[in-house]
Amino acid sequence: MITRRIGAAAFTLVLAAGLAACGSDDGGGDDGAGGGAGGESIKVGIKFDQPGLGLKEGNTYTGFDVDVANYVAKELGKTDVQFVQAPSKQREDLIATGQVDLIFATYSITDERKQKVSFAGPYFIAGQDLLVATDSTIKGPKDLDGKKLCSVTGSTSADNVKKEVPGVNLQEFDTYSKCAEAVSKGQLDALTTDDTILAGYAAQDQYKGTLKVVGAPFSEERYGVGLKKGDTALCEDVNKALTKMVEDGAWDKAVEANFGPAGFKVDAKTNPPKLDACS
Ligand code: GLU
Repeated sequence: MITRRIGAAAFTLVLAAGLAACGSDDGGGDDGAGGGAGGESIKVGIKFDQPGLGLKEGNTYTGFDVDVANYVAKELGKTDVQFVQAPSKQREDLIATGQVDLIFATYSITDERKQKVSFAGPYFIAGQDLLVATDSTIKGPKDLDGKKLCSVTGSTSADNVKKEVPGVNLQEFDTYSKCAEAVSKGQLDALTTDDTILAGYAAQDQYKGTLKVVGAPFSEERYGVGLKKGDTALCEDVNKALTKMVEDGAWDKAVEANFGPAGFKVDAKTNPPKLDACS
């Protein structure tokens, strides 16, 4: 059972561990695994506007994806992690063009995406849900007919809801933070994406008491680590690092530090997930 008592202190520890990683090279060393990821530095795609997952504030990066990325980078022997913003619809291109080596950005593993990129993981399983005004009567996708819904271009969230609720008036933005703002202003009725992301917005000071997560997930989102298609060696190295992160307790700590403050309950039946084989 995952407890959620450890707040800021654990967060600081996780951060400190991430920083300490910058000065050491006790990971796998640079064994050339993954053509795109050679050398001491690694370019990692994350979200910049998803509190609890990937958030950039000044030169500080925080969130569960950031912690997992820093852990994996250290295990790969990388001493310099360069974070690059990876909006949902650009993720496949960022990998294919070598602008990033790895992506940790609430990136669901799907067959369609596997045509263009490969995935290590999954390292977390989330579910699609809805963020609405606290006084909203929307309780699930069945209440969305004719409603103004927001999601993000190139996401599974937008694709799923288009199939599930053809009668919805879906507006697709490029980031979820813009959607949250529009819902909070009453311009749109709901935002749909992963429950992890929604919990982060609902807990933000500016939205506390205004927005709530419905809490009835209707999909399974298996977060993978995106990498160049066919780089099985890199995929296996990442999976090794993910296994170690779970075994040594760092994964649990990252869950508690990043999801705990938002009160997000991690489903311990599905998390941490079993890894897929690299192909
Ligand atoms: N996990 C979903 C996806 O990969 C939604 C979140 C996102 O867009 O990053 O599309």
